[in-house]
Amino acid sequence: MNNCKQDGALVLFSGGQDSTTCLAWALSRYRRVETIGYDYGQRHAIELTVRPTLLEKISAFSPEWQGRLGEDHMLDLSLISQLSHTAMTEDIAIEMQDNGLPNTFVPGRNLMFMLVAATLAYRRGLNVLVGGMCETDYSGYPDCRDDSMKALQVALNLGMATRLKLETPLMWINKAQTWQMAEHLGGSALVDLIRTDTHTCYLGERGLLHDWGHGCGTCPACALRARGYEQYLAGEF
Ligand code: ZN
Repeated sequence: MNNCKQDGALVLFSGGQDSTTCLAWALSRYRRVETIGYDYGQRHAIELTVRPTLLEKISAFSPEWQGRLGEDHMLDLSLISQLSHTAMTEDIAIEMQDNGLPNTFVPGRNLMFMLVAATLAYRRGLNVLVGGMCETDYSGYPDCRDDSMKALQVALNLGMATRLKLETPLMWINKAQTWQMAEHLGGSALVDLIRTDTHTCYLGERGLLHDWGHGCGTCPACALRARGYEQYLAGEF
């Protein structure tokens, strides 16, 4: 574990529950942590607006975390909305497609996110990329799978002659365990911060604060987050 302290990490940070938990995870183990976020023409850019406050509050958690948290990089990837026609980038109903994937799946998005992050990490001298991809409890997005990430790590390192590590701390845990991980990393204060300040809702609903956070309560992302929080409270992992 000690050698981790020598590493510098770039965290894919969207302002959602998963990436905020990943950021706390990275701050607890790497000597330098930077963040990257993408504006890709999301239907609701609200998750981008919560990022600066989250970064400020998470850095205030401890002097150690404050010392480790470095620059935030916000990049324009509007190219994605020019390429894709999905429920994440256009005002169309969320539904299942003929290929068995929901139309919230944006083909190539996570691959492109990692590729761009790797390019920035190269320039910044960071050797670890951290992302909230997860195979458990999820919509089955193929670019969130462990095999996709491992293959991408190999491709990136071959293509850039680097030794980048792609870390996905949430890969094998469910949403209840993600809440539990936040508690282990930063106690109930971090759970509360994630509950009230992160954004997950696909529909961009922010008004109501439920037990599990803000959101419409009915879209797939809200449903998953709410169920995970209930199970976390009930100790059902
Ligand atoms: Zn929602």
